[in-house]
Amino acid sequence: MIVTAGIDIGGTETKIGFVNREGEVVAFTSFLTNPAAGFEAFFKNLKHEISVMIENSQSSISLAGMGIGAPSGSYKNGTIEDSSNLGWPENLPVCDILENHFQVPAIVSNDANAAAVGEMLYGSAKGVQNFICITLGTGLGSGIVANGKLLLGANGHAGELGHTIAVHGGRECRCGKKGCLETYASATGLVRTVLESVQNGKSHPFLIPKKNGKLTAKMVTKAALAGDEMSIRAFEKTGEVLGKKLADTVALLNPERIVLTGGLSRAGDLILKPTKKHLNNNLLTVYRGSVDVTISEISNKKSAILGAAATMWFKLGEVREETI
Ligand SMILES: [Zn+2]
Repeated sequence: MIVTAGIDIGGTETKIGFVNREGEVVAFTSFLTNPAAGFEAFFKNLKHEISVMIENSQSSISLAGMGIGAPSGSYKNGTIEDSSNLGWPENLPVCDILENHFQVPAIVSNDANAAAVGEMLYGSAKGVQNFICITLGTGLGSGIVANGKLLLGANGHAGELGHTIAVHGGRECRCGKKGCLETYASATGLVRTVLESVQNGKSHPFLIPKKNGKLTAKMVTKAALAGDEMSIRAFEKTGEVLGKKLADTVALLNPERIVLTGGLSRAGDLILKPTKKHLNNNLLTVYRGSVDVTISEISNKKSAILGAAATMWFKLGEVREETI
């Protein structure tokens, strides 16, 4: 069986899956990234874990390539560009390191772009030529597929919707700007909305964190599902900011579908309904009825692995087409 490896490098955990062309994860492992130990130690672990997976498969698989998903992964340069926040070199040549060791092709993408390719091959955008995938996690990532291909831009950084301005002079963002979309439309943004309401004098026993714990988006979701009005309003506001920004984005890109994925998308209708409402209310007439918003059908657990593996499957497909 031919497989590609999907490798998701996160700040806390790194996951590896062998994925066949049909999108089945036939082998899986994970280990702690432990950035403080240095990138040499990390790659030693990564190579070891992949080698063990190959050995365990007892020749039943043939590894055709590796797709890596990482924050700031540069598809064009084969590097992780901003791994300095992990304490690693500025431009880490992740593809060279793996290609030299395993003698198979490797590509790296930023995690939101990988998620978009995963949706295109295995998820809620199969056969869709023009769509946007929005990852609602700690931040907001986006991957754009136009005419059946991932939009990369001049330097491979196209699709940073999370850092476009949603509210002028609004909340401070970790990027240094103010009012970025992700400061409102993300798990962190939802929590900030609730905390602002609490500061404004409204509070609810549902939302008091237990024992010094932090308020999380999951807690807000639980409270909203139990009928807590402040939590429901926080979802409303999140969906409003997101929906309006998506209406602008539709005017730029004319997608036929928008797929929501990531932890916060699991809140289901709580986030989907207000997003749809405010998107539709702000669409130019010409786009009405031509774009649908849906929540990814790929489980959260698998999506990073499938996305990363899918980038390599997609690449292999491209290579075949070019060869014919
Ligand atoms: Zn920002």
